[in-house]
Amino acid sequence: MIYTLPPLPYAPDALEPQMSKETIEYHYGKHLQTYVDNLNRLIAGTPYEEVSLETLILTSTGPLFNNAAQVWNHTFFFNSLTPDPEPMPAELTDLIIRDFGSVPAFKEKFKKAATDIFGSGWAWLAQDGKGRLHIIQESNAGNPLRAGFKPLLTIDVWEHAYYIDYRNRRAAFVDNCWEMINWKKVAARLHEPSPAARVADLAEETVVVGTATKEEFAEAVAEAIEEDEEADMQRYVCIICGWVYDPVEGDPDSGIAPGTPFKDIPDDWTCPACGVGKEHFEPER
Ligand code: MN
Repeated sequence: MIYTLPPLPYAPDALEPQMSKETIEYHYGKHLQTYVDNLNRLIAGTPYEEVSLETLILTSTGPLFNNAAQVWNHTFFFNSLTPDPEPMPAELTDLIIRDFGSVPAFKEKFKKAATDIFGSGWAWLAQDGKGRLHIIQESNAGNPLRAGFKPLLTIDVWEHAYYIDYRNRRAAFVDNCWEMINWKKVAARLHEPSPAARVADLAEETVVVGTATKEEFAEAVAEAIEEDEEADMQRYVCIICGWVYDPVEGDPDSGIAPGTPFKDIPDDWTCPACGVGKEHFEPER
């Protein structure tokens, strides 16, 4: 499967002033796009091309898990927001009162969980197998699907989610999120099958994906990641003057940090020796 940027269910400026058009342009338009692109790159040529995003999340680790989960989490997050919020449906209100005491108590607890996450991560409202609601903190790309929960709501607390509009004030961002939560959608998720139900039975000895066993699967992915890392360290030579770009060194005089793969150099970069553009470079043999 080739992943694409999921549709944004409202106009980029529709969530202002709680979330600016500029934040959407960066967060949805650039950050999420990068996770989508990375995911496509990592699964290309591996058995992971054939499975659902949920299977990827439940069976992978490392860069593959990180990018797959970030695609899932962001899609879920942007779909949890609306410019036209409606009151919380009674069914959800009742569950929240049952499990947290009151709606204000839930919001306070959720906000504390969201602001207390050290570094980047996600705060979740999720339901366990017995129907009880929980507030769950996850770091980095974490997703409560991995622990068997059904996600109902999430708020992204990576700095990129709020820094343009709120600078370092994460708590203010969470407070403002309450003004744009699509509670109808959150309540509807109570009746959707858990996304994990779409995943092959992981308890079995081998998860059959096509004809690959789980081990072959992991091996193929590890290989693809390794090839990818090797490709990133490829040196490129200027075919006009012979100057060589080495990703290990970068080109610090032009602001290209050491460790930057050639493909990640901005398009307006030029050869420091003769001044021609990137298009005049080819991989060194
Ligand atoms: Mn984000």
